[in-house]
Amino acid sequence: MKFSSQTLEKAVEALASLPSIGRKTALRLAIHLVQDTTDKTEKISEALTHLATNIKYCKNCYNISDLEICDICTEMYRNKELVCVVESVRDVMAIEETGQYRGLYHVLGGIISPIDGIGPGDLNIEALKTRVGKGEIRELIMAISPTIEGETTTYYISRQLSDFDVEISTIARGVSFGGELEYADELTLGRSIVARTPYGVEKE
Ligand SMILES: [Zn+2]
Repeated sequence: MKFSSQTLEKAVEALASLPSIGRKTALRLAIHLVQDTTDKTEKISEALTHLATNIKYCKNCYNISDLEICDICTEMYRNKELVCVVESVRDVMAIEETGQYRGLYHVLGGIISPIDGIGPGDLNIEALKTRVGKGEIRELIMAISPTIEGETTTYYISRQLSDFDVEISTIARGVSFGGELEYADELTLGRSIVARTPYGVEKE
């Protein structure tokens, strides 16, 4: 790509550094912004600057939040004995969309993946242990993708929590198998949480 303007080139490079945006798309977006006569560019850059500086992670569940403790953790009607363990904030959003879950969450921030250099210490597992150690949580629903890495993560967590009086279940299989949790449709995902099974118990 030959650019007549370094300013444009820089903008294209910045946009193209985002996932799923190639250089062609980046160029189209940049040209769109150049030609825009409203304050769109300013609004976008302002929103992104806020995103980079103001976003926090909930101190309780590690969901993305504007406050120290997120909205979900502070909602009175939530069942605080039930915690759904997920890989990412996007999973929280997907499960919330189903409207069928009224417990709390714990966002791990990824899954154990030696190939990618992600070990248990890189995830919010100690914090989960601390939460469970407080004694209020009765059940953890592991809503982790059914990949080898996901299975490893669930196994590791169940071992870490074996001394605690907490039930561990996994979301029903077959429904989200092979696909990422966040892409399962709302109805299926909702059902799979309702029809969860105890972890470690083989089903016929
Ligand atoms: Zn929270």
